[in-house]
Amino acid sequence: MSRLENYQKIRKEIPDYVTIVLAGKTRTPKEIKEIIDAGATDIGENYVQEAESLYNSLGETAKKIRWHMIGHLQTNKINKALKIFDVIQTVDSLEKAAAINKRAEGIGRVMSVYIEINIGSEITKAGIKPEYEIIENLAKEISKLENLNLEGLMTMGPRFGNPEDSRLYFKKTRDIFKRLKGLNLPKVNMKTLSMGMSNSYRVAIEEGSNMVRLGTIVFGERK
Ligand SMILES: *Cc1c(COP(=O)(O)O)cnc(C)c1O
Repeated sequence: MSRLENYQKIRKEIPDYVTIVLAGKTRTPKEIKEIIDAGATDIGENYVQEAESLYNSLGETAKKIRWHMIGHLQTNKINKALKIFDVIQTVDSLEKAAAINKRAEGIGRVMSVYIEINIGSEITKAGIKPEYEIIENLAKEISKLENLNLEGLMTMGPRFGNPEDSRLYFKKTRDIFKRLKGLNLPKVNMKTLSMGMSNSYRVAIEEGSNMVRLGTIVFGERK
């Protein structure tokens, strides 16, 4: 099947309330634009530089979609990131949140952020430790930052292997999400649970995800 057919098939298969974020890494603007023209609304990029270059190549189309930072954000790239992205999904410490807040304040914008949780405690992965108290504390601190809106959680989970092995991690993330939502923190609108990738999106949705980040299953294997 073509990437267009892949996209359309998945879009039909999953519920409407689930947002698909196309993981754009290594894909050409042409490949991505084809899927946007078919209705894709959200793009995820791992690097500010790549996002910027894609943004520029897409022209007017770039303004129609929502841009998600899904990779590690370096402090020296925050200013540029604030110009491109609608959401930064990878906040995993108060230092990072404060750094984004400060720069957002400088340009008078309020940035939407998610907390990234390293739910499997994998040493190779970014994200905050999956301990509820630590996460709650970060959420409370973020809620005090005037130029950030905390709107969700993001987790990676294992990329390969049996998706069933991710189920427990997705459940845990969903539980944390619910507890945080129940706190009704000022200015925090816990609405998005970003979990599930090409190999695991079905399981993730069964466990409460309402945002999946898909690359390979739409575009094919990365080279
Ligand atoms: C690459 C990437 C994805 C998509 O992975 P696929 O397995 O290609 O679907 C999702 N989330 C993040 C953070 C990524 O870097």
